Amino acid sequence: MRCRKCDRQAVINMRQHKLALCEVHYPEWFILQVQRTIEKYHMFGYDDRVLVAVSGGKDSLSLWDVLLRLGYQADGLYIDLGIGRSDSGAAGYSAASREKAERFASQRSGARFIVVDLWAEYGETVPEVAKRVHRGRGRPCSVCGLIKRHVMNRVAREDNYTVLATGHNLDDEAATLLGNLLHWQIGYIARQAPVLLASGDGFARKVKPLCRLYERETAAYALLSGIDYIYDECPYAVGATSLYHKELLNRLEEESPGAKLQFYLGFLRARETGLFCEQGGAVELHPCINCGQPTSAPGLCTFCRLWKSQKESADDRP
Ligand code: SF4
Ligand code: ZN
Repeated sequence: MRCRKCDRQAVINMRQHKLALCEVHYPEWFILQVQRTIEKYHMFGYDDRVLVAVSGGKDSLSLWDVLLRLGYQADGLYIDLGIGRSDSGAAGYSAASREKAERFASQRSGARFIVVDLWAEYGETVPEVAKRVHRGRGRPCSVCGLIKRHVMNRVAREDNYTVLATGHNLDDEAATLLGNLLHWQIGYIARQAPVLLASGDGFARKVKPLCRLYERETAAYALLSGIDYIYDECPYAVGATSLYHKELLNRLEEESPGAKLQFYLGFLRARETGLFCEQGGAVELHPCINCGQPTSAPGLCTFCRLWKSQKESADDRP
């Protein structure tokens, strides 16, 4: 198959767009799609300071790469969750993904790279916090999500970033939407958007510039751009419901190319007409009495409660 724009051999055929492109024209197309998404949803401009949450995976590193190529002021933030860190300090998933992110950053001289090591700063890794809070039951993902959101917001606030960008792709967004729809979680559905506006003081605007690009398209961009990323998933992702939803959507896509994109874009159009928006309702926020970050909970925010219980269990020890 030939590239639509030149006579070279195509490296990717995007059936949903009826478009095949070569190794030169595909990265150009990808960068243009990201730029269009940023502009369409008014995500940020060249004066904004953007903090990109990088995990060492293909999506977040590709996003950082594209933003730098487009000339945005984009710095990277890596949160070391301590996943796979044994008591002996042996390397695991977090160490391997951190290395990928560090290597990527070291090759981008103009950009700043920030690392927050949870274990070094707070004395516990994500699996340890989850074990303490959940008493060893279930996966640590809810605690992990809460910690990541808190740390991202904290760094954005302390270092005056106006925008927080994450590498969520179309597959992630469509799977989240499907999961929320299956359970009719209207509040979550109403809050799912490519841009979450800063709500009052203390929250950076959150954006997802890859939300209209398939996971396969991001992987192809990373590969063709020579981005070295971690292939392995987090060990706790195995068996997650979101992966099952992704699989279901992939089957739909197989039968009907473009189904995933239509599903998600149709939702965004419905959102624009005001559907679901009332249920989103503004939540009243006030500063946490410990860390100062905005919270809807009275007194301490949920993040500070996590560490309060760590202190209490230490105090209870004989
Ligand atoms: Fe965190 Fe769960 Fe994702 Fe692993 S799979 S990084 S534990 S949210
Ligand atoms: Zn707090």
